[in-house]
Amino acid sequence: MNTPKQTKRHCPTCRKHTVQKVSVNKARGRSTAHPMSRGATARVRLRGERRGFGNLGRYSKPPKPKMTGKKMTKKTDFRYACSVCGAMTTQKKGIRAKKVELV
Ligand SMILES: [Zn+2]
Repeated sequence: MNTPKQTKRHCPTCRKHTVQKVSVNKARGRSTAHPMSRGATARVRLRGERRGFGNLGRYSKPPKPKMTGKKMTKKTDFRYACSVCGAMTTQKKGIRAKKVELV
């Protein structure tokens, strides 16, 4: 996948379209990007504090192994830096691509 190094995008800080520099970041999972979001308390209970009732919706036996492999593509995570004010905005949704190249 080829993307231009600079694009004209809307900057929420300047409130208008400005030229913005594109940089590629490693896409992170939901749990690492938002560690304190919904489900964080459940994870804390799973990992450390083992109090409360029930089995947290899990099975008592481990599941049978499935034929799964590594994903061939990664989701893109572009960052756009405004050339006027320097504010950084992120891509809303990543697209799956094998290789990302800034042209
Ligand atoms: Zn700006």
